[in-house]
Amino acid sequence: MNETSETCQSCGMPLSVPDARGTEGDGTPSGLYCRYCYRNGAFTEPEATIETMAARGGEMMSRMFEIPPERAEGFVLQQLRPLLRWSGRLVPSCGSCGMPLQDPSDAGTEADGSRSDRYCTHCYRNGAFVEPDLTREAMIAEYGPLLAAELGMPREKATEMVTAFTATLPRWR
Ligand SMILES: [Zn+2]
Ligand SMILES: [Zn+2]
Repeated sequence: MNETSETCQSCGMPLSVPDARGTEGDGTPSGLYCRYCYRNGAFTEPEATIETMAARGGEMMSRMFEIPPERAEGFVLQQLRPLLRWSGRLVPSCGSCGMPLQDPSDAGTEADGSRSDRYCTHCYRNGAFVEPDLTREAMIAEYGPLLAAELGMPREKATEMVTAFTATLPRWR
């Protein structure tokens, strides 16, 4: 299998940290799945559904970030939907903001006008960032309060969540 992803295509966990990846049947690291979801070439829980994964992930998010349980579960469900295991296709995500590039119109454009498979249309046009001077700190300051309002969580927990998330994105690594 040659396809690779920077996030687990089953649970959404970042695969950029060492030893995060699961293993194929021959012992090589999986390109697509984390070690909790996938070992020796098979899912550790083949019976898992997107709903059971969202319930478990939601409970964890709710505890870690003080998000009301139903909102946490809804949020996780939304994050899981584009992943290969649940959508049946490998959807790239924007390396600047993390948005999944589900439709061709979501993708940014390269200098030659072709579609980018690395960045979204809000972040990247004509081969350059829309906001070239944007810093990770400014992004965290902008998205933290939005996320706090959306999920009904404390502001500092939202900032923590955005900080952890942006650390996984290629533009900010
Ligand atoms: Zn996983
Ligand atoms: Zn983007």
